[in-house]
Amino acid sequence: MKFINLTRRTEIGANTYYLEAAGQRFVLDCGMHPKEEGEESLPNLQVLGDRKLNAIVVSHAHLDHIGTLPVLMRRQPNARIFMTEATAEIGSALLHNSVNVMTRQREELGMVMYPLFTHREADRASDRWQSCPFRQPFTLAGERAQPQEEGGLTVEFVEAGHVLGAAGVLIRAEGRTIFYSGDVNFDDQTVTQAAAFPESGVDVLIMETTRGDSPLPEGFTRAAEERRLAEAIERAFSRGGCILMPVFALGKTQEVLGMIYKFRREKLLGEFPIYIGGLSVKMTEIYDRWAMTTRRLLPRLQLLEELAPFVLNGQTIHDSPARAGRIYALSSGMMTPKTLSNIFTRRVLESPEHSIFFVGFADPESPAGILKAAKPGDLVSLDLDEPAQPLRCQIEQFQFSAHASRESIIRYVKKLAPKKIVLVHGDLPAVHWVRTQLVAELPGSEVIVPAPGVEMEL
Ligand SMILES: [Zn+2]
Ligand SMILES: [Zn+2]
Repeated sequence: MKFINLTRRTEIGANTYYLEAAGQRFVLDCGMHPKEEGEESLPNLQVLGDRKLNAIVVSHAHLDHIGTLPVLMRRQPNARIFMTEATAEIGSALLHNSVNVMTRQREELGMVMYPLFTHREADRASDRWQSCPFRQPFTLAGERAQPQEEGGLTVEFVEAGHVLGAAGVLIRAEGRTIFYSGDVNFDDQTVTQAAAFPESGVDVLIMETTRGDSPLPEGFTRAAEERRLAEAIERAFSRGGCILMPVFALGKTQEVLGMIYKFRREKLLGEFPIYIGGLSVKMTEIYDRWAMTTRRLLPRLQLLEELAPFVLNGQTIHDSPARAGRIYALSSGMMTPKTLSNIFTRRVLESPEHSIFFVGFADPESPAGILKAAKPGDLVSLDLDEPAQPLRCQIEQFQFSAHASRESIIRYVKKLAPKKIVLVHGDLPAVHWVRTQLVAELPGSEVIVPAPGVEMEL
């Protein structure tokens, strides 16, 4: 069995992995780098050479996993594309949004190679996707696998607990079982239920390591963290300000809405207006549509109906003042320049009565990461086209990551005890921490950090 890491560096980039087994060639995920631009934002597809792919299997719809799928599909017109049903719905909306973002970047930044694909290509791409239910093995010919199928290769999606539709990918081939975690969470969130990953029978595990560099605080529980958030919202409102939460449109927005619903139900907080972005509305509609038919918590909760959020978009954001007693849960989560959260931050940054609450992961080099690390009074620049501003508003941080804690990753891998463990989807310090732990705890297993672009035998 052959494996190539098609990311350009050991990092959370354009996550894409090549596998060859039982005479079949396929790729797991085809992401877009969240920080790089142009060619550098693509996976290293040149490494594939003239290999013809039988299939592309997508774990979930975050752009670092699906963002350049139309580009790879253009180069591999005969490959079949597989993902879960919810991922197909979400992915199509996110790819169209990505075309809009790239088109704006072409106009504003003169990026001539943008957009990397067009709306028409995104449409044509999603027409070719084949959506598959969880826990039903299928073949790369797109047929339901027969039990005890000998010698062939089968693929099965299992719930990954990360965001709606997210799957781990279980591959059986050549008498062995390979399991790709995608992005995983082993603990319940507020809406999304914990992963239901296999706990035995895996020979090769390809594992994400996003949080390998961040230890869980002593005594941490999600319930206590939710209470801490409710109290902080109360305090922020009583100061006479509003709260900005930079959130991802997919996942964190719906978790925040779910938490606010719980706070109201438990009488921790009263009613107050909530604002979200247009793309987040689309994502939340999909969550609501799938509420009763996916494995999740609060299955009867219809978020849009219950919380009735107001909607801001690229135009209305410019004349929306920051008003007291409101929550603005706006994307992007990383506060990328020109996004709603970045624009709104400039409106609240210098006002001591307003607050910014960070509720999830932010890359340290992103504007959100820079702001997280800033001290009161520091001059911060979150968009090079705009003047720097002094930080005078309140900043608070909470831990509601959609990714597995590093402690839960180690627990899971120890229980599974695969013969080979391939560590991916983490920055160098994160990957190294997980590697060091596993080498010590599982002396019988081989722990591999796959060099980018190098073909290896698994
Ligand atoms: Zn993800
Ligand atoms: Zn990811």
